[in-house]
Amino acid sequence: MIIQPETPLEKIFRLSPFQKKALAKMRLLKVSDLIRHFPTRYGEAGLVKSIEFLTAGEKAVIFGKISKLKLGKTFKSKVAISTAEVEDQTGKIKLIWFSQPYIAKMFSEGNLVRLEGKISEKNGELSILNPKIEKVNKIPEEISGSLFSGENNLNLSPIYPESRGISSNWIYHALQKVFRNGILENLKDPIPKNILEKYHLPSLKTAIIWIHSPRKKEDAEIARKRFAFEEIFLVQLDRQKERYLARKEKSFVIPEKNLEVKKFTKDFSFPLTSAQSKSIKTIFKDLQSGHPMSRLLEGDVGSGKTAVAATIAFATAKTTPINSKTDLPAEAGNLQIAYMAPTEILAEQQFESFIEYFSKHKLAIGLITGSGAKKFPSKTDKNKWTKISKPQLLKWVANGEIPILIGTHALIQKTVKFKNLALIIIDEQHRFGVKQRMQLRRKHDIAPHLLSMTATPIPRTLALTIFGDLDLSILDELPAGRQLPETKIALPHEREKVYEKVRNELRNGRQAFVVCPRINDPDPEKETAINARSVKSETERLQKKIFPEFKVSAITGKLKPAEKEQVMLDFKNKKADILVATSVVEVGVNIPNATVIIIENAERFGLAQLHQLRGRVLRSSFKPYCFVFTESKSTKTISRLKSFVNAKNGFELAEADLKQRGAGDLSGIKQWGISDLAMEALQNIKMVEAARTEAQTLIEKDFELKKYPLLAKHLAEKQVIHLE
Ligand code: ADP
Ligand code: MG
Repeated sequence: MIIQPETPLEKIFRLSPFQKKALAKMRLLKVSDLIRHFPTRYGEAGLVKSIEFLTAGEKAVIFGKISKLKLGKTFKSKVAISTAEVEDQTGKIKLIWFSQPYIAKMFSEGNLVRLEGKISEKNGELSILNPKIEKVNKIPEEISGSLFSGENNLNLSPIYPESRGISSNWIYHALQKVFRNGILENLKDPIPKNILEKYHLPSLKTAIIWIHSPRKKEDAEIARKRFAFEEIFLVQLDRQKERYLARKEKSFVIPEKNLEVKKFTKDFSFPLTSAQSKSIKTIFKDLQSGHPMSRLLEGDVGSGKTAVAATIAFATAKTTPINSKTDLPAEAGNLQIAYMAPTEILAEQQFESFIEYFSKHKLAIGLITGSGAKKFPSKTDKNKWTKISKPQLLKWVANGEIPILIGTHALIQKTVKFKNLALIIIDEQHRFGVKQRMQLRRKHDIAPHLLSMTATPIPRTLALTIFGDLDLSILDELPAGRQLPETKIALPHEREKVYEKVRNELRNGRQAFVVCPRINDPDPEKETAINARSVKSETERLQKKIFPEFKVSAITGKLKPAEKEQVMLDFKNKKADILVATSVVEVGVNIPNATVIIIENAERFGLAQLHQLRGRVLRSSFKPYCFVFTESKSTKTISRLKSFVNAKNGFELAEADLKQRGAGDLSGIKQWGISDLAMEALQNIKMVEAARTEAQTLIEKDFELKKYPLLAKHLAEKQVIHLE
């Protein structure tokens, strides 16, 4: 049989429907998928034992010859019981399976097997209960030797990610088969040779051999490095293409309008931080190039991104579009801004903030969300907003009368048309996929500038990769007078003390958040195992038992939008002192008077999420407090929470997170579609920079990758996965 990378697996292997399903689930359809299904680890060095060295209580893997297979029933309950013995050169041990009568039929005397299970002891005799069993062709050499330890004996047999129906062993044998049929000779390397040589990376063929059957550990490592590079390189190519295209497009020129802008920022109730001024300057430079800006403004929670956005929006809204032929104002009406927020709560809140920032400047602002539309100022009261119909709002946006439109996803629907959209601002941008970002821009003839803002502290390597098409500005400075939060891991018996502290703050006129992982209590009949505090019962308990003298209110994602809005408004206006919430308050919610946050069952939140939550109380010059409760005693949880307590800012935390758990915890990581393998590589800034530089050079020289058809094909395939 001739096996090619494109050959479907079901043409080569006889598969049960169950196995087909499992393979599809693991995205293993073709031979090329299979050979790129990499081991997660190698060998069983620690686990593999000779029988004479087994001790009760440990988990072990043994290899040996099976004998004395018997099927019977337990005496009392008549449960099927299979028994057998396994023997290696050093001894014998008894095997027992309950309710697995087929075992005795599937194996026969003398079969060589691999067994995995926990060793138990009864009356001084060792046995393994319900071990996992698999036939093997031969017993690994090192094991039939004696001790199985030391460098040279390292067993480097690959262990693959499995799924029910497709075991690691199945994959191992499947790979053996495709290798025997000469697949390696048919592989073509997508990465240009000169790049591989420059960075001392192995060819595809070598890397495939090394990753699946390494002679030594280093071989496997360098092979992994190559595949990680390949993946990051592909992502970079994709991003650099976007960047290249964006640079070619035309955009409105937005002048800095020095005096007017200065006056605008003077009206703020605070002086800009130097980080804010610097970012504003850089952004204005972008806005005058005639080509679309693509910039990511990264700033820790509370660093004042809205003020930057408002300033840029102001200058834009004050600019009349220029006819490029005559250099004269093209028409009446000014340039427009779309401001997109990830949730309705945030859109509402930014609408309010913008009204405050723009109150003196007679600029109309619209709000559009899933649940309705608003406009500022109202006809009857120039200081207030008013509800209007969506069609009416959209009409005014389309004819250019409303220069600033704030909204949720509703903003990118087809029905929303602008007259002169010049600038798109995306708040908390990690919630939007790359493709959404592109779509938004492609919709228009004159490409709008794009300012993305995020408080999710993203390690630099990740930012360079995921947002490789964007330029980066960082607000690395908090407004003056902010106090560092006091963060404490609170033990269950310290609850009273914590509440006393909260009471103290409330008496001083401050407010508090209490965050719980769930909305309702579980149905005790159904979910006995899950034991976490709920918004519902905490609200009741805190109101009745702990803080009867204060007002406790609650918010969850389940409330209707209008109800949410009301709860937030009441909290802002201090009609409630404590707000019990789920993580709906995670991003961006701005209540400067709130100084304490309690996080219940903190083990259930990711580090980035905890950081965002703590950000809720870092918004004023009052001393902020954050108390995290956890019932978990796991050392991993405690060490995670400790790094949360100790990290000075989000960036430090993000780096720590990347080190501790390979970035899996950074929010939204899944949607970026980067594999665990590439994630490992993201700790290597040199590799990321190399991939970026090479991708940039290649795209500038050969945008369509005409000279590199294989690379182009891989890139296209990658994008298909992206879009799903
Ligand atoms: P984020 O960067 O998290 O979006 P915001 O823009 O919501 O932060 O700002 C947080 C708070 O800080 C707001 O109440 C805002 O008015 C205030 N603020 C912004 N810039 C400054 C500054 N330079 N000095 C003092 N307070 C500021
Ligand atoms: Mg914000």
